[in-house]
Amino acid sequence: EPAVIPHSVHGIRREHLHSSARRVCETLQDKGFKAYVVGGAVRDLLIGEDPKDFDIATDATPEQVRAAFRRARIIGRRFQIVHVMIGAETLEVTTFRGELGHDAKKDAHGRVLHDNVFGTQAEDAARRDFTVNALYYDPASETIVDYHHGVADLKQKTLRMIGEPRARYREDPVRMLRAVRLAAKLGLVIDPAAEKPIREMAPLLENVPPARLFDEMLKLLTSGHAVKCLKQLRDAGLHHGLLPLLDVILEQPLGERFVMLALENTDQRVRADKPISPGFLFATLLWHEVLAQWERIKGKGERPIPALFAAMDEVLDSQAEKLAITRRIAGDIKDIWAIQPRFEARAGKKPYGLLEQPRFRAGYDFLLLRAESGEVPQELADWWTRFIDADGDERAAMLLPE
Ligand code: ATP
Ligand code: MG
Repeated sequence: EPAVIPHSVHGIRREHLHSSARRVCETLQDKGFKAYVVGGAVRDLLIGEDPKDFDIATDATPEQVRAAFRRARIIGRRFQIVHVMIGAETLEVTTFRGELGHDAKKDAHGRVLHDNVFGTQAEDAARRDFTVNALYYDPASETIVDYHHGVADLKQKTLRMIGEPRARYREDPVRMLRAVRLAAKLGLVIDPAAEKPIREMAPLLENVPPARLFDEMLKLLTSGHAVKCLKQLRDAGLHHGLLPLLDVILEQPLGERFVMLALENTDQRVRADKPISPGFLFATLLWHEVLAQWERIKGKGERPIPALFAAMDEVLDSQAEKLAITRRIAGDIKDIWAIQPRFEARAGKKPYGLLEQPRFRAGYDFLLLRAESGEVPQELADWWTRFIDADGDERAAMLLPE
């Protein structure tokens, strides 16, 4: 039997939900269905964070959910879910999922491929990953339905797996990454029973489709806790084979310093609610790979600039598939890289031309990181910092002799 926790204990009022989430629950409940806000949103509200999005769980079938709303459509990927559009918002509504049958389709390593069997709320709770993610909030009664002591675990700052951790990682190895990311983001300690098997089971991640891995990596890198996550990934022995590029980078001291500085920067921006640019992020992650290729191609006798462009294309081509980089982002990345050699020219008209470049600011931020990591002289970055702020006469006086 689940614990039903009243408002007096957990403190979440229905007004704390987005009105769209309340609307969806009320509409379904009016039609006689059960409907709860579930997962990350309840967890985040309990620790006083603003939820990114609201997921709804219900005993209505996807068809019944779709019929209950004017703007709704069934999305059929791994699990059938319904996207309900309310105003400018889209909510994910999921039908309670049932127990994994013995006949569930799995790959050779035990990873579950299909599961679309509907079930009870208790079964749905048991299928979720961590106890703190299996909380159901009912806006009508303002109670939380808690099958696995998630509220207590959250209070004790423990990230605990529901069920046997090894079995749950085998079903879905991405849960190892989720454990690291959620612990870092929420300030929780991974329960030893869930932490210990990770090192040994890490190779299972190799069988996960790259697109899914990439989605999870992007979440991790933009969580506002990327540095902490990466350190934990490493401590857990999880950084190998995750993103091929990370292997390369983290193994060379200069590359590691550069990436860590870049990620610290990103973390600060995310936490200050400033926008981050995926182009800038990936440009930093891949830069030392570009440098290595650049050296190699120059070594074959190619001139520096054509060699840089060839290196850029090579690195982007080899990563494009795994990283699912869109063409626009690839363009941003190239702009940032291509501009780098131009910071070396500090004579004549060239510095003025560079200032006028639309991507100057991103390129300059990138240069600062290169200097801070020790790849280029700090003096070069300082020169540009002064040049940007200087007035006309000062600028002219700063130019180096041709
Ligand atoms: P956040 O949205 O803050 O990144 P979240 O926990 O909400 O974290 P989602 O990916 O939005 O993560 O998933 C919503 C809910 O679905 C989770 O809280 C969890 O209950 C369940 N869930 C997600 N991924 C898995 C998984 N791999 N295995 C089991 N349950 C999962
Ligand atoms: Mg979520």
